[in-house]
Amino acid sequence: MVMPGPDEPSLEEMNYLLEPFVESMLRLEKGVEFTVHGHDDPEVSHSHLYCNISDLPSSRKVTGLQGHSSKFFMCPTCKTPSFSLAHPSCFDPSNFKDRDDWRYIKYSFRLRNADSATVDAIHENRGVHWSALNYLLGWMPARSSVVEFMHAVFLGLVKHLNRIILIKSGLLNGTRLVKPMDRLEAFFSGLVRPVEANRLPPSLSTGKGSPKVDQWRNQIAVLFVALYDAWAHLLACNTHPSDAETNRVNSAKMDCNLRQHYAVILEFSAAVCILSSQSISPDNVCRGRAALSHATQSWARMGCHLTPYFHFVNHFEQQMYEFGPCYATWAFAFERHNGKLAKINHNQHKGGELKATLMRQWWSITFNYELVRCLTLFSSLLD
Ligand SMILES: [Zn+2]
Repeated sequence: MVMPGPDEPSLEEMNYLLEPFVESMLRLEKGVEFTVHGHDDPEVSHSHLYCNISDLPSSRKVTGLQGHSSKFFMCPTCKTPSFSLAHPSCFDPSNFKDRDDWRYIKYSFRLRNADSATVDAIHENRGVHWSALNYLLGWMPARSSVVEFMHAVFLGLVKHLNRIILIKSGLLNGTRLVKPMDRLEAFFSGLVRPVEANRLPPSLSTGKGSPKVDQWRNQIAVLFVALYDAWAHLLACNTHPSDAETNRVNSAKMDCNLRQHYAVILEFSAAVCILSSQSISPDNVCRGRAALSHATQSWARMGCHLTPYFHFVNHFEQQMYEFGPCYATWAFAFERHNGKLAKINHNQHKGGELKATLMRQWWSITFNYELVRCLTLFSSLLD
């Protein structure tokens, strides 16, 4: 499902645009016959819609829910308010109080033909607007909105850890004798990597460029080793603080104890490694979520600035039980296909002609691939 940007159509225009899509989805939900590989006759297939959240503002607009910066409706799944982002309870799933999706649907239908004052009151107090998606069978505004792992973890949490927690807060600032940032850069530049993981962010120290998601993914896998090397001297000097020092640190903007930060980053790396597995058992989902929850709570306790994504990822356990491992829902495949489409030459043409050009080129690539595959198969049979 392709969603428009947050500042494109109004809510009414959005619902108008969604109506033909909803009609098609209703037909697909009832069942449509498709040709199935390995079957002689067409088989009936039923479809179900879920919304893949890789763009928070747009997804909230399409589902009719309040934005992620809302005070009381930051999270559509539970009742955690946005101001609790500074407290560890915001990242502890045992404290979450779930919301009832049916209430969103009830109030959404109630405001559909209401006057503007009622619409505003319901939006303010119940956190929902009308969305044409509510016509779909089985559609739940919050539970059908899947937080996409790639954008949430690699472009959200890992990027924030590097840019804000490590660099902006000065944890990699050097002294006269020790330069942690230089050591970190030297470690990454001297790293011999396997062929399939050959890219890392261009430079941590300058923050220039826009690292791609697979670069962040590769970086978090080795960051704890690089930090151990960069902070080795400082960690040896930085022993556990006394009570007086702890009180002084707690009154500061952020706890800058390197030992504590290193322990949290180690736990966070383990959580990302477990949860980003291609196949995962329910026990490992539970272990990964517990490590992630513990790491995010520790950051909150240490006074780090955290964003709503640090809360949303704590819903991964339930999400993975319902939708499967992150490989089932993450956007790597879409992004790769977008990259292929972006490389197609269209001589700067825009508009309707462009769609036909892209489609023609796409089929050309597909047919060429099939041709090469058949020729390879044919030649192997001849051998
Ligand atoms: Zn929540």
